[in-house]
Amino acid sequence: MPDLATPLIAWYRDNARDLPWRRPGFGAWGTLVSEFMLQQTPVARVIPHLDAWLARWPTPTDLAADPPAEAVRQWANLGYPRRALWLHRAAVELRDRHGGEVPRDVEALLALTGIGDYTARAVAVFAFGDRHPVVDTNTRRVLARAIDGRSHPSPPGKRDLAAMEAILPADDVDAAVVNAAAMELGAVVCTARAPRCEACPLAALCAWRADGYPDTGDERRRQAKYEGSDRQARGAVLKVLRDASSHEVPLDDVIADWPDARQRDRAIDSLIADGLAEASAGALRLPR
Ligand code: SF4
Repeated sequence: MPDLATPLIAWYRDNARDLPWRRPGFGAWGTLVSEFMLQQTPVARVIPHLDAWLARWPTPTDLAADPPAEAVRQWANLGYPRRALWLHRAAVELRDRHGGEVPRDVEALLALTGIGDYTARAVAVFAFGDRHPVVDTNTRRVLARAIDGRSHPSPPGKRDLAAMEAILPADDVDAAVVNAAAMELGAVVCTARAPRCEACPLAALCAWRADGYPDTGDERRRQAKYEGSDRQARGAVLKVLRDASSHEVPLDDVIADWPDARQRDRAIDSLIADGLAEASAGALRLPR
């Protein structure tokens, strides 16, 4: 196994972007909120939403004191709004089980609503400085190319953590930097479509580059198109509910002009099933 850690650390020290969650003292709650938002949304869109969220709810207890509807409303158009509901539930759990503090322990983090392998370890590493492998989609691409010589990563799996663990240095601080550096490299240099190998600190070690960039196939599921999708209809329903000044909208008025009435009904039913909307007395509203 080539030593990827040393060049990654050197590169990161000179090239890391200045992002809010990387600044000293950002705090575990800020890290947790940022990781929820970053799960499916690009950095540039997350930053203003994150600032507004933390200004409104500087602690989990502040968020837990408001109804879930406010979390969904504040989430605005960040997409995948179940994350807002989960974040609210996690805040309630933090208040009720952890005295309003974000725990450091990975198992305790994993027990919170909406937190999976990635987010639990990201919080433990980036907020608390502990040593764990942290693997996001950018990291998986870098490892697939540099180590395995594959053009695309496999679908996410437990083996990702072992692959990352294998390149982490023993020192906690260095390990945290390598975790962040692999993600950063995948985000800004080893991108999916146009890797900039001439600017890559792993160029001399990269198996995929050494093999002449073979296309080894992509086994991952493609994300469905947004336009015309049920997701788009759900987004339109939620926007109506977020914008409603009376906080309730007669069911018949919710995206009444949507071109596909069955899709509209499906969107409303699925939002109710997910707990993102509530229906009562012929009206729809955000969850109380
Ligand atoms: S050399 Fe190119 S393909 Fe290999 S890790 Fe670096 S950017 Fe990615």
